[in-house]
Amino acid sequence: MMMIFGGLTGACWASFLLCQTWRSTQNGPQPARSYCPACRGPIAGYDNIPVLSFLILRGRCRQCRAAIDPLGWYGEIAGLVDGSLVIRQPPSVITFAVLLSILAASDLYRYSFTDGWFWLGAAVCLVCDWRSLHWLPALLVFGAGILPVRHHQLGDGDSEVITLAALLFGLISVLVWLLIASGLGIVLILMRRGDRRQPLPFLPVLLVALLVLLSI
Ligand SMILES: [Zn+2]
Repeated sequence: MMMIFGGLTGACWASFLLCQTWRSTQNGPQPARSYCPACRGPIAGYDNIPVLSFLILRGRCRQCRAAIDPLGWYGEIAGLVDGSLVIRQPPSVITFAVLLSILAASDLYRYSFTDGWFWLGAAVCLVCDWRSLHWLPALLVFGAGILPVRHHQLGDGDSEVITLAALLFGLISVLVWLLIASGLGIVLILMRRGDRRQPLPFLPVLLVALLVLLSI
């Protein structure tokens, strides 16, 4: 029951988060209700059910039949799985997963995130787990990230998130997490079409890797 509740909450959260983040990248005033980017017609509530509506509509707008970007649907599925896995975890893991989802959505559409969100989420994580922080692993991970950040092989936001994870969960967990994320990253780079030199937003990859880590 808890897993179903977590999954439904995760799917709704992902749908809301991706929609709001996408809206923040659009110019001009935005309608209050959800709308189709192609015909700008409002989307009815029954066509806005996370995960299901995309399948029922076969990935097309009911009004103009334009294709809907599947990115939102992938995000909703990730939210569904993520929510069902995270719900039974300690508060620090739940907070970290929520924080990572906010940052990953921003990274996906903007290749950056607002520092205020990171520091707010980090503060809540640290309060949840203040008795068992791993200071030395965090210092090591931060030190190891300086050179890749300087040479633009790693975003400074990515480095902040990985350092926070080391502080909360220790070195071994973070190394396994990074190993999974690197594997996923390589697969995504090989699979994607178009310009492969375009930087890969790494935080969504880290979020999926967290999901894999929690499920094994
Ligand atoms: Zn439309």
